[in-house]
Amino acid sequence: MVTSTVDRQGLTDVIEHVNDDHQDELLSIAQVFIDADAERATLLDVSDSGLKLQVDTPAGSRSHLHAFSMTGDAEDKILFLAYQAMVRQRKLPPGTKTRYFRFVERQTLSANMLRLVFTTDRPLPANEPGYAFFFSLKALRPTRQNKDVEYSDMPLMMRLWFRGMLTVMKWLKPTARRKLLNSMYSKSKYYTLRASFPAENDDSAHRLAWIDVYTHGDSPGSVWARSLAPGDMVKSTAEYREKTDHVHEGRVLLIADETAMPALAAVLENWRNPLPPTLVLISRSEAEQDYVDASLIPEDSQVYRIVADGEERKERVEALLRTLGPLDAAWGALEHSDAKMVRVFLRTRHSLAASNNRVRGYWKLGDD
Ligand SMILES: Cc1cc2nc3c(=O)[nH]c(=O)nc-3n(C[C@H](O)[C@H](O)[C@H](O)COP(=O)(O)OP(=O)(O)OC[C@H]3O[C@@H](n4cnc5c(N)ncnc54)[C@H](O)[C@@H]3O)c2cc1C
Repeated sequence: MVTSTVDRQGLTDVIEHVNDDHQDELLSIAQVFIDADAERATLLDVSDSGLKLQVDTPAGSRSHLHAFSMTGDAEDKILFLAYQAMVRQRKLPPGTKTRYFRFVERQTLSANMLRLVFTTDRPLPANEPGYAFFFSLKALRPTRQNKDVEYSDMPLMMRLWFRGMLTVMKWLKPTARRKLLNSMYSKSKYYTLRASFPAENDDSAHRLAWIDVYTHGDSPGSVWARSLAPGDMVKSTAEYREKTDHVHEGRVLLIADETAMPALAAVLENWRNPLPPTLVLISRSEAEQDYVDASLIPEDSQVYRIVADGEERKERVEALLRTLGPLDAAWGALEHSDAKMVRVFLRTRHSLAASNNRVRGYWKLGDD
């Protein structure tokens, strides 16, 4: 088997690692894609186009080539294949956090806010404000010849949804691809599930996801969000649940910058506090202020808008906090040290206990 562009030593590492640590996954690949009677599988070689497995069955051993349907990192392609096999065998261990999302399309919500539409094979939370996925900032991309095969594996409803979307396959220019790989290959970032929906004509499980990403310059998250092409698979390896139950009683402060606006919009959609909130919306540019639609803001809310960056932003937030009346609870997310300043202020000036003072850092200034 010819190992083309991949470094041989790196590949030996991958092969040894997969044989040592992913025996169950290899066996699932063998049983689903090669021979249902497989009792053991050993990875012999990997190339850009496929993997070579030795498959042991009661009838004997043989080696088998299996073509990849995606392009990408060798280990990622093997693990994706294993995931597909284990889903088909219903063998994913309970509590498995890893899930794959298939990118459908990108929508522009404002100058810097992109909506990424994904589908996923395992049901999503239907209505949990602030539920976030830890996305690996890279993608597996279907090989040209396997584009259609991949989709034929999907349930009918999902296939219908994709048919309209997949007329154009956008390929990254080589320079952009190199930049993407070099700059952020192993990074992961949390992004909030803004909303989820059932697939078209299917009113049961929610499998369509909206993930809204604030883009700025060539940051890893921004490059990732702009570079995804329809059909790409992305992986999330962890999940995060915001605690927002405390906002449904008393005088509440909600404070969010662009990265927390998706969670904030979901909190407002679920507003059941008889009192309207005090709302602080922070953004670097005016354009993102409209992200939180006016229709979501409860009547008589006090809304403060801060359009600023860096130190000026922090100073204006602090100055605003000093003008607010009594508060019983707070939820929000913004830059790390800004969030700390807000928490400390609410603890000392409003005596908010930790359970009612949930203001988190979603990103760090200067975190390059
Ligand atoms: C639970 C959770 C949920 C989240 N949900 C979302 C979400 O739904 N949408 C979303 O867009 N983000 C969300 N984030 C933030 C996200 O994970 C990234 O940390 C953030 O987008 C920055 O990543 P980046 O790759 O763009 O930039 P980084 O690599 O973090 O930073 C690159 C440079 O840009 C600067 N920078 C980073 N972010 C900003 C910013 N917002 N404004 C100004 N300068 C910045 C940094 O200081 C640094 O100099 C969430 C974070 C958490 C913890």
